[in-house]
Amino acid sequence: MSQSRRPVIAGNWKMNCLRADGLALAEAVAAQAGQVDCDLVICPPATLLHSVHELVGETALGLGAQDCHYKDSGAFTGNISPTMIKDAGCSYVILGHSERREYHGETDADVQAKAKAAQQEDLVAIICVGETEAQRDAGDTMTVISEQIKGSIPTDSTSENTVIAYEPVWAIGTGRTASPEEAQEVHQHIRKELASALGEDFAAATRILYGGSMKPGNASDLLAQADIDGGLIGGASLNSADFLAIANAVSK
Ligand code: PEP
Repeated sequence: MSQSRRPVIAGNWKMNCLRADGLALAEAVAAQAGQVDCDLVICPPATLLHSVHELVGETALGLGAQDCHYKDSGAFTGNISPTMIKDAGCSYVILGHSERREYHGETDADVQAKAKAAQQEDLVAIICVGETEAQRDAGDTMTVISEQIKGSIPTDSTSENTVIAYEPVWAIGTGRTASPEEAQEVHQHIRKELASALGEDFAAATRILYGGSMKPGNASDLLAQADIDGGLIGGASLNSADFLAIANAVSK
């Protein structure tokens, strides 16, 4: 971690939590959000955004959605727009998660269009990239990441409205984590690509998160790497003690 970039720990709840459990989890996390040395964010399912915001909107806890459409309104059954997310009290939106890319066929161009729309609404776009196991085994990791970075990030992004999440697909929800060295190697590569695409200042100031089975037991070693500026947490974000333990690992 660098002293110059404020770390972000973001929880991706995915398709989990009904109202009572979700509100209890949000409340427990919000109670500690002012005490941690990072920006703490939760991304509940869309059904809970309004009520979570009503409960914890006055605290230091940031709120994010897990996806959005690139249009503001219209005939797009089942989708939600950046304006709606903003209206629900969000400041962040996760985009291009590998589950969206895999199960919904999202391309880099889709992710870029969504990120542009989200940024225009003053949301921070958390843009996910990551290679599959087959791509890593074939030695294609850096090429895949370079393509995703170039194709998914709007060219007029700023370091304030953009966060990158490096999530190796083979590490998501599997219990397998990239080693700190493996993760750092890719994060360093991402920063280099950001510099060539959007300039040195953007690259130096933009937070790059690691995601993929980050837990209280491995968080400190990952977060100690020079180019890892926080985490995007799936499974462990559903348990307030685990999620907060990861956030507390930031300052260790
Ligand atoms: C994720 O899906 O963004 C993620 C990192 O999940 P997990 O922490 O469960 O691997």
